[in-house]
Amino acid sequence: MLRLSAVVVPRKNKTGIYTVLAVVVLGITLILSGGCVFGEQKVAKTEYYSYSDSFGANSYIIANSGEAALIDTAAPEEISRSLIEKKLKLKYIILSHGHFDHISGVETLVQQFPDARVLIHPADGDKLADPAKNLSKGFGTNVAVQVTASPLSAGKSLPLGSAQIEVIETPGHTVGSVTLWTGELLFTGDTLFKGSVGRTDFPGGSDEELRVSLQKLLKLPDETVVLPGHGEPTTIGAEKRGNHYLD
Ligand SMILES: [Zn+2]
Ligand SMILES: [Zn+2]
Repeated sequence: MLRLSAVVVPRKNKTGIYTVLAVVVLGITLILSGGCVFGEQKVAKTEYYSYSDSFGANSYIIANSGEAALIDTAAPEEISRSLIEKKLKLKYIILSHGHFDHISGVETLVQQFPDARVLIHPADGDKLADPAKNLSKGFGTNVAVQVTASPLSAGKSLPLGSAQIEVIETPGHTVGSVTLWTGELLFTGDTLFKGSVGRTDFPGGSDEELRVSLQKLLKLPDETVVLPGHGEPTTIGAEKRGNHYLD
């Protein structure tokens, strides 16, 4: 407990102590609201939490009004613990694309949260159960995911509490790559990274398609927070200024 009464303030310096008190109160409010916690940031009523695994793939929980959507499935045990701790109802497991580092945790999560709907773009659906197509074979881990998945397509909007998650088709890294947009947060999978863009040299990749997809994303407001499938968060404005792959 803070014993403010113990602070001796000379009469002349009252304005000074009020400023100090205001700063302390503001600091405590920020800490209590979670605004200072790394990896857990609040943007309006939609919150997000990030997780990553040994392959460096990022997954994100988006939460609004007690409902949650998961973008990709790296670190499934940690995600599962987190959903339970935060008392969130997992409504969707959205796969940004079909590469193994983004889909490998799907089965574990579906077993634990059977009401969650798995969603992937139909053009990447065949990667789920095929270790060659999802590239796991080449990395010496055979990932073959057996789940029932629903199709994600352009313009589709997924309600989550009082928010909406919109699907933007962004082929280029893979044919069925998608980007998810909440109006403030943009989950770009392996399409756009901080200072880089997705590889196009895997089967189904296309430089030309990636270029068109990136142009779509760059039309979003500069302050849009970009949460990529690998690496650190960034913003559309920062990438427009500093990402030379976009020149
Ligand atoms: Zn990928
Ligand atoms: Zn990846």
